[in-house]
Amino acid sequence: LLEVSGAVRRYRIRGQREQLRAVDGIDLTIPKGRTVAIVGESGSGKSTAARLALRLERADAGTIRYRGTDLAGLRGKDLLAYRRAIQPVFQNPYASLDPRYTIAQVISEPLRVHGVGDATTRRKSVETLLDRVALPAAYADRRPHELSGGQRQRVAIARALALDPELVVMDEAVSALDVLVQDQILDLMVSLQRDQGLSYLFISHDLAVVQLVAHHVYVMRAGKIVESGDPATVFHSPQDPYTQQLVAAVPRPRQQAS
Ligand code: ADP
Ligand code: MG
Repeated sequence: LLEVSGAVRRYRIRGQREQLRAVDGIDLTIPKGRTVAIVGESGSGKSTAARLALRLERADAGTIRYRGTDLAGLRGKDLLAYRRAIQPVFQNPYASLDPRYTIAQVISEPLRVHGVGDATTRRKSVETLLDRVALPAAYADRRPHELSGGQRQRVAIARALALDPELVVMDEAVSALDVLVQDQILDLMVSLQRDQGLSYLFISHDLAVVQLVAHHVYVMRAGKIVESGDPATVFHSPQDPYTQQLVAAVPRPRQQAS
């Protein structure tokens, strides 16, 4: 579905001659219907990679192809179509949901922006979408501050699903949630994938979470991919010293003191 090849993204930093290579030549493939993860510590370039995939920013070098088409050349109608096919879910569900909007308005906004349906059909879509993320229909008329963190993230997912995307980019989308709620959202992701063949780019600093959902994981450090493979292998026998550090940092169940 998505093929990233040699992608580079540099930023000019004030007062510095050298540009920062936030993403420094990464290769990455997202097959249809799969979950591909990028894991790495803060500042390793994960969100920059996400913005390149979402075409919120352009790569300075390398190519990103979606179904074989280079994103760099997309404009007009084709760019609009791409913005429907790939949808983001970000970390902080409160900051990303307008507090003045009702949940119905939040979820239907992408439909309005893309001119899909009329007020009546959009309201119907909101109900279907709420159901899909296991929230009661009555939540349509509530506002974000009336919901828990997990519920808000379900709303963010419902909104991302409104335009029936093929790929959802989740950038630290469960990182702010406590472990039980994280599990519920991850279950939801898996069931949506099973039912609708969704693909995910799942970004997290937390290797333990990644292992639960990803079919393939890329480990990023300082803009580069230092290791990749199936998550169980990367998790249980990391080859790169940096990945070994990440694994060692994952909290493990401790023995009960007697
Ligand atoms: P991560 O998501 O893994 O924490 P980011 O992609 O956000 O990493 O950042 C990678 C590096 O690029 C960091 O050093 C960050 O400070 C820098 N960076 C990110 N966005 C910008 C920007 N718009 N301008 C300048 N530097 C940036
Ligand atoms: Mg980030």
